[in-house]
Amino acid sequence: MTERISIHDSIAIDSLRRQRRVDPHRIARMRRVFYKKLEGSEAAIDELPVEVREAFAERIDFHPLRLEQRIDSASDGATKLVFVTAAGARVESVLLRPETGRTALCISSQVGCAANCDFCATGKMGFQANLSVGEMIDQVVQAAQLVAHEGRRVRNIVLMGMGEPFHNERAVDEALATLLGAEGFHHPASRVLISTVGIPEAMLRCARRFPDVGQALSLHAVRQDVREQIIPLARKHPVSELRETIASLNAIQSRTVMIEYLMLAGLNDSMADAAELVRFLDGLRVHVNLIPYNAIDDAPQLVGSTREVRDTFAHALKSAGLTTTIRYSMGADIEAACGQLVQRLDRESSRRPDET
Ligand code: SF4
Repeated sequence: MTERISIHDSIAIDSLRRQRRVDPHRIARMRRVFYKKLEGSEAAIDELPVEVREAFAERIDFHPLRLEQRIDSASDGATKLVFVTAAGARVESVLLRPETGRTALCISSQVGCAANCDFCATGKMGFQANLSVGEMIDQVVQAAQLVAHEGRRVRNIVLMGMGEPFHNERAVDEALATLLGAEGFHHPASRVLISTVGIPEAMLRCARRFPDVGQALSLHAVRQDVREQIIPLARKHPVSELRETIASLNAIQSRTVMIEYLMLAGLNDSMADAAELVRFLDGLRVHVNLIPYNAIDDAPQLVGSTREVRDTFAHALKSAGLTTTIRYSMGADIEAACGQLVQRLDRESSRRPDET
């Protein structure tokens, strides 16, 4: 059987086009219908000349992912989508539809993650595989098709799901090019955000190539010992290096850098921690996002800060002139913390029948 080629693999599609002597404009139309109009694969194929439709339909794989489960939050507009790759691995995406109406989609870049952050269910899975460009883009295609039926469009796309995007840098780079490119989704770069635990060289390369794509740094602590305790990768890139990286991003990009700060009781949430954070960020163009902690089974030692502590911490940062928000945590009832649901489903499917 002839190997199928991904709709997202423009080089392979172009070679098929040349083989079949198809006008490039017809391919551009096929892509437009698929990516921008979200009309599905059949409508996309119908944009091609009649005599090649069957051949293209047989050869092109429009969906490298199979949607296994869709779980809608009963309490807010969050929906978790669990996809299965051709290799049988599960990945998740999260759709957020806050009351403001701005639909956001969080996508994954890897199956599992090698970074092994202490607070993260995906990290506890270990690294399993990098997602391909097609597997990343298909999360966007399928989610966008889903919300299109509700009369919505995906406004913001964040790479904040399973995986450290810069550990899969080349594929992420190509996926961003497809998301932003005129032949792809043509999504505004200003509405794309990539979140990293802090890999300086890759952050700078990304900022140079995509200056309008936002970056979020999962900082979580400015005391080196505390950061190393919860993020093993911190040993490789000390906080002083991260500070220099943020300054360099500020020089390259007009966008502010998002500083993600998970609020953990007794670890990073004291007034002294707030003062250190203020000192650390002094002179940088940043926006601090304080994140309530979604507890995971594998890290019983970590406890989220109370609401009162979060508010006091936020007040201290704001008083020092830092733009600060507290992230409203959506989808708590659908295990919206990154990797939580996939980890449970993987455990369930690997359990022997007599254990159920
Ligand atoms: S927080 Fe991000 S980088 Fe850390 S283990 Fe989880 S997915 Fe990986």
